[in-house]
Amino acid sequence: MIKIWQKLYLSHGVLLFSALGLLAVLASLTLTWTLVSRTTQDSVLGTTEAAIFTLTEVFANEVWTEVRPLLPAHDSGAEAARSNPNLAKLDERIRHFGRRTDIVKVKLFDLKGLTLYSSESRQIGEDKSRNEGFISARQGKPASELTFRGSFSAFDGELHDRNLVSSYVPIHDADAVVAVVEIYADRTTSIERTNTELRKLLNLLVPVFLAVYLGLIFFVRQADLVRRNHELSLLQVAEESAEARRLAENANTVKSQFLATMSHEIRTPMNGVIGMSHLLLDTKLDNEQREFVQHIALSGKLLLAIINDILDLSKIEAGRMEFDFQPFAVSELVNKVSALLSTRTTEKGISLTVSITPEASGHFIGDSLRIRQILLNLAGNAIKFTDQGAVRISVLRTLTGVRFEVADTGIGIPAEALDRLFTSFTQVDASTTRRFGGTGLGLAISKSLAEGMGGVIGVDSEEGVGSCFWFELPMQATEKQENSSGKLPAQVAQPITEERSSDAHHDETRRLLVVEDNKVNQKLALTLLARLGYSADLAENGIEAVKAATNTRYSLILMDMQMPEMDGLEATRQIRAHAAINSNVPIVALTANAMESDRQACLAAGMNDFLSKPFSRDSLAQCLERWLNPV
Ligand code: ADP
Repeated sequence: MIKIWQKLYLSHGVLLFSALGLLAVLASLTLTWTLVSRTTQDSVLGTTEAAIFTLTEVFANEVWTEVRPLLPAHDSGAEAARSNPNLAKLDERIRHFGRRTDIVKVKLFDLKGLTLYSSESRQIGEDKSRNEGFISARQGKPASELTFRGSFSAFDGELHDRNLVSSYVPIHDADAVVAVVEIYADRTTSIERTNTELRKLLNLLVPVFLAVYLGLIFFVRQADLVRRNHELSLLQVAEESAEARRLAENANTVKSQFLATMSHEIRTPMNGVIGMSHLLLDTKLDNEQREFVQHIALSGKLLLAIINDILDLSKIEAGRMEFDFQPFAVSELVNKVSALLSTRTTEKGISLTVSITPEASGHFIGDSLRIRQILLNLAGNAIKFTDQGAVRISVLRTLTGVRFEVADTGIGIPAEALDRLFTSFTQVDASTTRRFGGTGLGLAISKSLAEGMGGVIGVDSEEGVGSCFWFELPMQATEKQENSSGKLPAQVAQPITEERSSDAHHDETRRLLVVEDNKVNQKLALTLLARLGYSADLAENGIEAVKAATNTRYSLILMDMQMPEMDGLEATRQIRAHAAINSNVPIVALTANAMESDRQACLAAGMNDFLSKPFSRDSLAQCLERWLNPV
């Protein structure tokens, strides 16, 4: 259907070209016709004139001497001309002269323009003094014109549809003009002959012009079609690639959402595994049992690290990674990272050094958590891939910010592997995984984080000698840290003052409420709290939590986010609004949703703090300390 439409369709350009082309062809045909016919007519006139002038010579020499005495006396007027008694003789003599030629009519005028004789007798006596041909001939210059006459009276009676050449010619006598003769010659035959020739020419020209015209139109239209097809295919390609991109983006979003959901779902049971193994480690175990449990705890931690990486990556790919730029001390951050890693370097027997130039050691505005994450990643890799020698973390000031470098004396990276190093799930060779462990996600995440903060990341490495991973971030230096509370707004970050002044010991008056639907996590939270010296009630979901909070006064509520019946956000809103005795109670979210947007939602619902699942005994203890026994 579209094909037919396309074939019939002439674009505006082609239509315009066709119309103009047609006009041009018609114009040039008409012009050619006019030119050719005028030239042939001129040539007919020319040859006729020449013949007539010769005849007039003959007339002047031979006939004029005989005719002159037969004319009326000089200046005797029109009447005398009409009633000329010699008219019959005169007529007879002139007709005799004409009979031998193609002359069809003759007139004679005196120098005043009076018609002295005409072969058409009723014209005798007419005044021709104003006729242009006569005036010209009177002055000695012959004049001719070609005319077409529908009817014409000639020597031999009426003629019809004739092409005639009429010539006014002066008759001289001793160089002076003495009279003017007008001679009509019939040129119909030669004109018709040339017209036939012209028609033949036209018959030839019209098809030639038309063929050229149609050929041109065809050519232009073909060119136009080719252009249109080209445009159409370009359009199609663009549409297809847009569709392909949309599909790919869609698939990517689905994948990222799936990863986010999966990692969230896995974090909840992991909370149980890690938490329970820690509880178990606190019980009486023989050495073998202790070793087994330690393995469980360690594996749980490793699994959690992988899940965190996947969650990060999925957030980055879904474009949902959020950054929080705050003032922080660079040297403090780097020293903390180094302290965290020092056990591992000591274990491996390699050295770990930190060097910070004075210009880079102050306060800068940046996302310290993300910078720490990249540094831990790079330095962790450096330690993992270095068996002897040193790992060195350096920080320097650049024109626009700060450059971090992590150099090692480890196995190094072959040149051909360098450019794919920063893509997800890439490891230099498969045996790396077996020897060193890892998922190949760390560098991809580090790259996305660095770029997300407007920076660049890279590596210089020599196989067998060592590697130097570096990243540069644009960061503004600032006088000092302005807001040490980080992500929590000031008003909720501070524990409530009246609680602060009360009893610093954990006792029965300090009742806590745990709101949690997962059985294992309930058990874990209650046991951990008991170990820390707190007693707690349990609510299985949001509705139960609101009910409990309406009846009993609590010192703190640990609130799970996702629960059947009523979720943690709604429960918090209702407690804040309706449970008068608990309207000021600190509510701490227990959430497997580690995203910044979830944290914001918690704050907006009226919660005060977060504990990210799986949480350790230490982080729970610190959180409780913060809210119940502030210093
Ligand atoms: P993972 O370490 O989890 O495998 P990464 O993305 O952090 O994933 O690293 C990808 C790969 O890059 C590693 O598997 C290793 O082959 C190589 N690599 C990273 N850092 C170093 C280093 N400091 N020395 C040698 N190879 C490294």
